[in-house]
Amino acid sequence: MADCIFCSIVAGDIASEILHATERTVAFRDINPQADLHVLVVPRDHYANVAELAEGDPASMAEVVTSARAVAVVAGYDDYRLVFNTGAAAGQTVFHAHAHVLAGAMKGLPE
Ligand code: AMP
Repeated sequence: MADCIFCSIVAGDIASEILHATERTVAFRDINPQADLHVLVVPRDHYANVAELAEGDPASMAEVVTSARAVAVVAGYDDYRLVFNTGAAAGQTVFHAHAHVLAGAMKGLPE
């Protein structure tokens, strides 16, 4: 989708530190980390938020979750948070569905 920063990262048009990629997903480090591990997992296809992804492509939704686990485990974390901000009022700023994978010490997030 034009003017979508995560579509540009998936396409390789914007540089990012990619940690994991599957047929349907790409995982890369968040540029403004809020935890020791802070990675974003996105579907390759554009959906505005996680609910639209789950409705439109359940297989990709599942792969976002399994990719998140793979990223956390490779980084040494069996326990981690998955956060899907959904809607501007809830803090969503990029309207391409994404999971925040957060582990280790958290900066300013509720315990
Ligand atoms: P959200 O506020 O839930 O929409 O999350 C968007 C996230 O994308 C924020 O945590 C940003 O720090 C992150 N972000 C924005 N641009 C980039 C980028 N070019 N590379 C990596 N992470 C980014």
